[in-house]
Amino acid sequence: MVIVGVFDNMAMNIEDCINILFDMDKIYPVEYEAIGMAIKALEYRKPMKVRYNDNTDKYSCPFCASSLMKEETEYIQDENMDGEWEYYECKETVPSFVDYCPCCGQALDWNDIER
Ligand SMILES: [Zn+2]
Repeated sequence: MVIVGVFDNMAMNIEDCINILFDMDKIYPVEYEAIGMAIKALEYRKPMKVRYNDNTDKYSCPFCASSLMKEETEYIQDENMDGEWEYYECKETVPSFVDYCPCCGQALDWNDIER
């Protein structure tokens, strides 16, 4: 993955960037905490595979475990007992497919999950 946006003309591979920061860490031990924070912030930008729970059939953030599900309303047309067609409201909980966790900001990878 490449960092784009504010630094469009300075696009750099996240892994390369982290490696450079790790090397700086060895050279300048005084800036240890600032470099550690920068590495952590960059790692948030690397998409992590979403976590799936077999028992609940729900997806969650691999980093903070927040739910990545949303409620969706569907209207189904069906015949009622008098033989007339009516719409029925049907609510279901589905994967949200958001790019970033709404709680912690972790970039998410949904590639293996069918939409
Ligand atoms: Zn999260």
